[in-house]
Order: sequence, then C-alpha cells, then structure tokens
Amino acid sequence: MLDRPSPATYGSDMPVDTPRLLINMDALAANYRTLKRAALGFEVAPVVKADAYGLGAVQVSERLWEEGARTFYVARLSEGEALRKAMGSKQADILVLDGAPLGSGPQLKAGGLVPVLNSLEQIERWRKEAGDAPLPAALHVDTGINRLGLTMAEVEMLAKRPDRLKGLEIGWVLSHLACADEPGNPLNPKQRLRFDDARFLFRGAKASLANSAGIFISPLYIFDQVRPGISLYGGDPTGQHGDLLQTVATLEAPILQVRDVAPGESIGYGGDFVATRPMKVAIIGAGYADGILRSTSKGGVVWYADGPRPVVGQVSMDLTAIDVTDVPQGEDFGDMVELIGPNLSLDAAAAAAGTTAYELLVRIGARAERTWKRFS
Ligand SMILES: *Cc1c(COP(=O)(O)O)cnc(C)c1O
Repeated sequence: MLDRPSPATYGSDMPVDTPRLLINMDALAANYRTLKRAALGFEVAPVVKADAYGLGAVQVSERLWEEGARTFYVARLSEGEALRKAMGSKQADILVLDGAPLGSGPQLKAGGLVPVLNSLEQIERWRKEAGDAPLPAALHVDTGINRLGLTMAEVEMLAKRPDRLKGLEIGWVLSHLACADEPGNPLNPKQRLRFDDARFLFRGAKASLANSAGIFISPLYIFDQVRPGISLYGGDPTGQHGDLLQTVATLEAPILQVRDVAPGESIGYGGDFVATRPMKVAIIGAGYADGILRSTSKGGVVWYADGPRPVVGQVSMDLTAIDVTDVPQGEDFGDMVELIGPNLSLDAAAAAAGTTAYELLVRIGARAERTWKRFS
C-alpha cells in the first residue's frame, strides 16, 4: 500500500461544502512505470481522452512526459488542440482517434495533430492537406470490434496500391481489442492474428494493439506500443492485476449534517427507504451532479470511520444520505467521507454502483475541487 497522508489532511484551506478530488501524480507515474515493465519495455502511449478520464489531460500528460511518454492519444480534435497548446514546445505526438472527420483537415494540420485514419474517405481527406512535405498519419484497422477502422480488405488494397497513400507518412498502425478484459475470449487471438497481418503490410509503421487489459493477456499482444488508459489511472479491468496498480484518484465529500431518524421515518426522495430501527444518518455534500450515480442508491457504500457505510435512500443531485448508526459515538473522525480512494478502490466503488471504473471516473462532476498532488 502506498504511504500517503490521510485524505483529510490535504486541501484543508478549501471551503468544505464541495467534493474534493485528489489526483496523486506520484501514483500515476508509478503506474506508468509498472505498465512499462509489463509491456516489456516497449513504448507506453498514454490515452488521455475525455480529459484523461476526468483527471486532467494536461496535468496527466505533463507528468507522464517527465516519465518519458512521447505519444498521447485523445479522442476528439478539440482535445488534441487543447493538449497541443498546453504542451507548448514539447514535441509530443498527439494522435486523434476520431481521425479526420469532415471539415477537420485544416485544424488537424494547424494543431500539428496526427489523425488516426479510420476509412478510405478519411485517407483521401487527409491527403488533400498534404503539400510538398508528407503528412504524418496513423491507420486504424478494424480487426473485430466493428467500431472504427479500415476493413482488412481495405488494408490489403492499400498495401497493393501505395499511390492511394501518396503524400502520407504512415507512422502507426493500430487496432483495438473488443474483449481484452476476458483473457480467454476467442476473439482476442482472432483479432491478434488479423492485426499481425495488417501490420506486416506496413512494416515501417509502429504497431499498437493493446489497451490496459490487452497488455496483460500475453506478451504476444504487446507489439511496438501499448495504449493504456484506465490502468494508468488506477483501474484494473482484468480484475487480476489490481495489486500492481496504485490509487490515483481519491474522491471525498463533506458531511453537511448528521441526524437521528426514528423507526418508521423515511429518508430522501420517494420515501422508499424506511428506517426499521433508530438510525444515525449523515448527509454528505455529493450527489449525482458530482458523479455519485443514482444506481448507487441500492448497494452503494462510502468509506467513513474505518468502515464501509451504506448509502440509504435515493441519491439526489447534491446530497446523499449514508448510514452511520454503527459508527462509535464520541469519536472525531473528521468531516469527510471517502467515495473512491485507498480504502474503497475505483473498481470496488464501480461494482457497487453497477458500472465500470471507466464510467465512474469520467462522471465525476466538474464541481469537485481537483487537486494535483506530488508527495515526492
Ligand atoms: C479508450 C481507448 C484505449 C484505452 O483503453 P483502456 O481500456 O482505458 O486502457 C486504447 N485504445 C483505443 C482505441 C481507445 O479508444
């Protein structure tokens, strides 16, 4: 377990009516190094789309640049433009997974961004931007997820017709796994073999297949570059390698009021939770506007006073009630509860909310006060 100050000790200068999201930059860097080892030393290209899953694409990218990361993936053109601006003079390769959609060519070029081209149409569009100097590009090959990407037939055609890629310098060939979180799924080897064929046709380009979970399937999935997102941020989609990863995000919310609830009284909207015994209930200042999903209303827990405390009643927009009846009387535990963090892992909190670590992270609201901390 990582040694860190108690969550209650940071940010104490902030007003305490708002949730706080602590982003531990040392843990982020440690996860990067762990993934680099897991990827046998091959390139780790961080996926920082959706504002680095809500943790701050600029801060995350700058910290990982210090660790040696040089290629970064975003989803949207606007994300790429913002990152390019923030990276200043740093010569990072910023790859845009949306590719070159209609009207995006000039902006991609102006931003020095590399589109991950998904179709013949996008290839044509990007070629139109090329002047005398060739333009860098990545090719996305669909090997079985049937989302974005060129078909295998299109890839073979392009290999036979280099004129169709004239003006472009294909620096990367990538594909994306559909079921990497199930190492035994037969779609994995199927996709890997197709990808091996595709990258063979573009031998000068870097081959990139594995996302977080893909890194752990087998060394055969690693190729030249891996593209982790969630595992950098502390989520373990495999359910088997969580011990290797450190907690990056700690989300806390303040207790605004503690009240006694008599048997027969209901709690929250709809009145569907009814106390069957005398209860002590803490009302915390976080709700679904902050990312406490309404699905947490049943089965959700938060961590307070050394134990899990169940959510009671419906989560509302700004407030959530938790059962603190069993918290020993008279002890001063401070006024913050942990929603995600060292005691309640991202994956555990996601499971309790009936969702994934991905969705839980990206739904943390803009209202949460973000603090990026380096402890060393
Ligand atoms: C989001 C994404 C990733 C990162 O996936 P994780 O499961 O978060 O590691 C990698 N590649 C592509 C194409 C993606 O869309």
